[in-house]
Amino acid sequence: MSVDFLKLSVTGVQGLSPYQAGKPIDELERELGIKGIVKLASNENPLGPSPKVLEAISAELSEITRYPDSNGYHLKKAISENLKVPAANITLGNGSNDILDLIGRAFLDQSVEAVYSQYSFVVYPMVTKACCAKGVEVKANNFGHDLGEMANAITEKTRVVFLANPNNPTGTWFNQHDLTDFLNSVPQKVIVVLDEAYFEYVDTKEYPDGVSLLKKYPNLIVTRTFSKAYGLAAMRIGYSVSSPELADILNRIRQPFNSSSLAQIAAITALSDSQYLQKSRKMNQEGMNLLEEGFLKLSLSYIPSKGNFISVDVQKDALKVYQDLLLEGVIVRPVPMPGFLRVSIGLPEENKKLLRALEKVLG
Ligand SMILES: *Cc1c(COP(=O)(O)O)cnc(C)c1O
Repeated sequence: MSVDFLKLSVTGVQGLSPYQAGKPIDELERELGIKGIVKLASNENPLGPSPKVLEAISAELSEITRYPDSNGYHLKKAISENLKVPAANITLGNGSNDILDLIGRAFLDQSVEAVYSQYSFVVYPMVTKACCAKGVEVKANNFGHDLGEMANAITEKTRVVFLANPNNPTGTWFNQHDLTDFLNSVPQKVIVVLDEAYFEYVDTKEYPDGVSLLKKYPNLIVTRTFSKAYGLAAMRIGYSVSSPELADILNRIRQPFNSSSLAQIAAITALSDSQYLQKSRKMNQEGMNLLEEGFLKLSLSYIPSKGNFISVDVQKDALKVYQDLLLEGVIVRPVPMPGFLRVSIGLPEENKKLLRALEKVLG
């Protein structure tokens, strides 16, 4: 008789299924025996890492026998100067997903609820369920967050609300006015997590800077990452900005060495490399324009996106189209919106290859 270990796991875990990451390039290479595969599946920065970051990491390599600075003094100082917030308001994470996990572990259990939107970031329900809390998914409005309905979904039991701005996988966003309306309607004892993973890509005037709202809303936690515009997805480094009280709580449950010394030095260097960031933004905007035009030429509609990705309506069985694209050597991402696939913005030639492949497989 073998033991059913799943039955022994906490009830929230029993309801989870493993996260489906974007397919790695070398996995598809092995399967198809072909080279030159284009991966536009995980919203990674197509530029590759900044040369300055590579140099800084190399110089730090001899230090890897030592534990990293548990408090991340230098990185917090750099973020603090960059954002003009006290270092005591910053929490470092092993990617910003780590911060989301810390928030769940600090505030969620089986007696409370977390609210998030339909078609939002998969990590919110994942964290909520893993903590055995009840997830309340609010129907999306035109693929975006329905902040009014999300406010209505808040009950006595709500402990955390997860917002993504821009949202992944839809690329939708909400403006300063709608966000502050929402924050004004939320009881102070409800923690609002504002996930700004794509903050650096947004250039719209009405787009709110969550960090600037922290003084007025002590129940707000803003999360950001170095994985996207800063091009450091594999380094696993992100952070939150919040009141020092909330930062102190997250710091109590944070694993002491949750960000490596290489990740810390990479992030410090990335923050000082404004040229790389500018180049990333420019390439993203040009790639976005190219894909939008390409989709229109193919008579495909898409969800206007403020991120470094775009979800396109392929108007048929999206999983079949996804698989046909794999055979063409292009990896994109299946998403929960029926008929849609998510495409990360790549290098110009990668975007063009995707459009050619799409045209071919859609006939
Ligand atoms: C990519 C992404 C993140 C970043 O995750 P990391 O752990 O920092 O790599 C966070 N939130 C959203 C909505 C994302 O799309």
